[in-house]
Amino acid sequence: MTASRTPTTADELRGAGLRVTAARVALLETVRGGDHLDVEAIASGVRDRVGHVSLQAVYEALHALTAAGLVRRIEPAGSPARFEGRVGDNHHHVVCRSCGVVADVDCAVGAAPCLSASNDHGFSIDEAEVIYWGLCSDCSTTRSS
Ligand SMILES: [Zn+2]
Ligand SMILES: [Zn+2]
Repeated sequence: MTASRTPTTADELRGAGLRVTAARVALLETVRGGDHLDVEAIASGVRDRVGHVSLQAVYEALHALTAAGLVRRIEPAGSPARFEGRVGDNHHHVVCRSCGVVADVDCAVGAAPCLSASNDHGFSIDEAEVIYWGLCSDCSTTRSS
């Protein structure tokens, strides 16, 4: 068995056909290290790593990384877009109606639930977005006490 080098974040950017910049590396690491972060939280994480980066540059990098499939964007109704590094598994999210916390939910029935729509209207469907809404345990405890 040959010992293969673990690809670095820069390698992954290159592999996705993206130009490697310090800001993009920092952004991908921030998103992966975080938990469904919004743009402001990502910007501050990037700045912690590489110094000042404009919000515009953060948006551009997020757009490029999302388009390349390295980052997934989720946007629950009524809350700002969040970004995560867990991609490609079509997992779902549960969102608290009260505080907006987001958590991952694995597929209930397999790798690609509901991708065989009962009527696909001729579309080639590649994602079924499922968002569960409710109250997180902190918020439901607060309400009932
Ligand atoms: Zn909550
Ligand atoms: Zn997630």
